[in-house]
Amino acid sequence: MRRIVKGGRVVDPSQELDAEVDVLIEDGQVVRLDENIEATAEDQVTDATGLVVTPGLIDIHVHLREPGFEYKETVRSGLMSAAAGGFTAVACMANTSPINDHRSITELILGQAKRHPYARVYPLGAISKGMAGEELAAVGEMVEAGIVAISDDGLPVMNAALMRRALQYAQHYDLPVVQHAEDLNLTGDGVMHEGEWSTRLGLPGIPSLAEDVMVARDLLLSADTGGRYHVAHLSTGRSLEMVKEARRRGVRATCEVSPHHLLLSDQLVAESGFDTASKMKPPLRPQSDIDILRQGIVDGSIDAIASDHAPHHQDEKDVQFSMAPFGIVGLETTVSLCLDRLVGGGMIPLSRLIELLSTGPARVFNLPGGSLRPGRVADITLLDLDRQVTVQPDRFKSLANNTPFAGWQLRGAAVGTLLAGEPVALPEDE
Ligand SMILES: [Zn+2]
Repeated sequence: MRRIVKGGRVVDPSQELDAEVDVLIEDGQVVRLDENIEATAEDQVTDATGLVVTPGLIDIHVHLREPGFEYKETVRSGLMSAAAGGFTAVACMANTSPINDHRSITELILGQAKRHPYARVYPLGAISKGMAGEELAAVGEMVEAGIVAISDDGLPVMNAALMRRALQYAQHYDLPVVQHAEDLNLTGDGVMHEGEWSTRLGLPGIPSLAEDVMVARDLLLSADTGGRYHVAHLSTGRSLEMVKEARRRGVRATCEVSPHHLLLSDQLVAESGFDTASKMKPPLRPQSDIDILRQGIVDGSIDAIASDHAPHHQDEKDVQFSMAPFGIVGLETTVSLCLDRLVGGGMIPLSRLIELLSTGPARVFNLPGGSLRPGRVADITLLDLDRQVTVQPDRFKSLANNTPFAGWQLRGAAVGTLLAGEPVALPEDE
């Protein structure tokens, strides 16, 4: 079985390629990139004229909610959402019910993913049993079942001794330890960033320190153990500076940021009239943090952009600001937001964005993909840089619609994905 993706502009940062070439795929793998590859009568052809062809985009921070919270999202709806948003793979967090802290849950998630193959799923296992923060989970057997990293995301690992053990133990499997960096004592009952706006609005604040002290502690633990440490949804300028400084000393630390932390400030809580779609963890930060994060997008110190797709049911979010759960969806907005605001705005070239959304995430979690070099799996995303879209949450494939970006008009969108060389087709009208 051969397929040729013809006529597109291939942007692949893994081989510093940005050129109009065709992609020849055989048996699910990239075989050759070349100008004008002739199609024979038996070849399938994907016409990519006018489109950008990139290695499949990978979102390494997604909550699929299954098992246990199927009213928020399922593996099926989450993967449809991923494909609609241009992603060929997602890594899903362990805070399901039951928690993914042993192999049977990992297998259940991967079984569901197999039944609904709209995108690949790479589960994370929990760091601690029951995410209780006390004992290490059964990491070895979850690795056998297919996890790619460990995290108690949703919650931080508050116990430094446990974090140290996790960073030591995970090295047996070369797994990154992913931290939701937050000191819960500093967070207290905070519901938004602690600063000028929380004071004006009279809402309890979450200080930047809640993130910074955790990142500082973990970088020390990572340095001492030699373990691989990854900061999930990094949101403060100071945390990024610490990660950069630690890396200069050889600490194996990586980090991701979410689009909302690059594009929205804590002022939105006031501007939106306490819209619960402006409530997430970490909270939206002031402009001074946004400026430093954007610098990290430009200078290469941020490894990945990840959505932290956190679906909640509308009934859960339609409550008073202080009562609402934290989190927003992101799978179907991330690519257009980044194309419009980061690339269209002139902040970074397209190749850097593809690095942040594909090559970088693949490297951070040791995933296949992230490259269209010959021999690699033919997971591909097709982008239309000129497509005008309006964010319409009621059209999302996700079961949830909690987004602060409703109504945003954006230029640029993902228009299709291929998995192992096969175009992904989504069911209509769902
Ligand atoms: Zn988190």
